[in-house]
Amino acid sequence: DAKNRGRNRLRFFNQQMQLDVTERAVLTNRLRTALGNQELYLEYQPQFNEQQGMIGAEVLLRWHHPEHGHYAPADFIPVAEATGLIVPIGNWVLMQSCFTLADWSNDARYQHWQLAVNISARQLLDSHFVSGLADMLAQTEAPPQRLLLEITESQLLDDTELAHKQLYQLARMGIQIAMDDFGTGYSSLQSLKNLPLRQLKIDRSFVRDLLDDSSDEAIVRTILALGKSLELEVVAEGVETAAQFKALHQLGCRQFQGFYLGRPASLEQLYTLVNERS
Ligand code: C2E
Ligand code: MG
Ligand code: MG
Ligand code: MG
Repeated sequence: DAKNRGRNRLRFFNQQMQLDVTERAVLTNRLRTALGNQELYLEYQPQFNEQQGMIGAEVLLRWHHPEHGHYAPADFIPVAEATGLIVPIGNWVLMQSCFTLADWSNDARYQHWQLAVNISARQLLDSHFVSGLADMLAQTEAPPQRLLLEITESQLLDDTELAHKQLYQLARMGIQIAMDDFGTGYSSLQSLKNLPLRQLKIDRSFVRDLLDDSSDEAIVRTILALGKSLELEVVAEGVETAAQFKALHQLGCRQFQGFYLGRPASLEQLYTLVNERS
C-alpha cells in the first residue's frame, strides 16, 4: 500500500544518502593527504584575443588519486572549501602560478601573457591572504600586473567588508581582479560599482545556447555593453564551436576561452600549441 511504498522509498533514499555521506568522508580523508602526496597538479586553459592569438591562460586544479583516479573539481573543491583545505591548496596553486608568471616574464614569447587563478571566498576571508600573496610575488619576482584573480559574486556575500578591503589591497599591489561566471550570482550590478574589477567572464551557460536562444543572446549583449560602459574587459567562457566564436565576435566580444580554441592542457602542451600556430 501507499504507506509501505513511502517507507520503502524513504529507506532507499536514506541508503543513497548514507552512500553519499560515506563517499564524501572518504574523499575528505583523501583530500587531507593529496597535497603532501603530490596527487594535485595544474592544467592551463589558453585564452585568446579576436585574432585567435594566445593572451594567457586560466589555471585549473586537478586531482589524480592512485585508487580512485580523477576527481572532478566540482566534487572536491566544495569539500576543500568546507574543510578549510582550500587555504593550503590555494596557496600552493598561487605559488606555482607565481613561478610560471616569473618564467614567462623572462621569455619574450610569453612576456605579455596573463595568468588567471580561481580564488575561493574562504581564501579571501583569510586575513593572511594579501600578505601571503605579496610574499610569493616578491620571492618569485612574478609581475603582479599579469596575475588575474577570479572571484565569483556569491562568494562575496559572506563577509562583504573584509572581502572588499582585501580586494582593494590586491588591486593596489597591481593585481587584476576578474568576476567569474558573471550573470549567475545575486548582486551583480552593485558589485560592479563597488569592486576594483578589470574583467568580467561571461558564464558558459549563456554561451552554450547563444545561437538558439534569444534571451541568452540578449544577456550576452547586455554584459558586453556593461563592460564597454564601465571600461571592463569581457571574456566569453565555454566557446565550443566556430559559430559561437563568430557570433560572440560580431556582438563585440574581444576575449575568448573554450574547447573550440583550446582545452585545458599542461604547460608543455600550451607552449607546443602556441609555437605551432605562429
Ligand atoms: P571556472 O573557473 O568557471 O572554470 C572553467 C571551467 O569550465 C573548467 O572546468 C573548464 O575545464 C571548463 N571549460 C572550459 N572551457 C569549456 C568549454 O568550452 N566547454 C565546457 N563544457 N567546459 C569548459 P573545471 O576544470 O572542471 O573547473 C570547474 C570549477 O572549479 C572552475 O570553474 C572553478 O570555479 C573551480 N576551480 C578550478 N580550479 C580551481 C582552483 O585552483 N581554486 C579554486 N578555488 N577553484 C578552482
Ligand atoms: Mg574561473
Ligand atoms: Mg567560469
Ligand atoms: Mg565556475
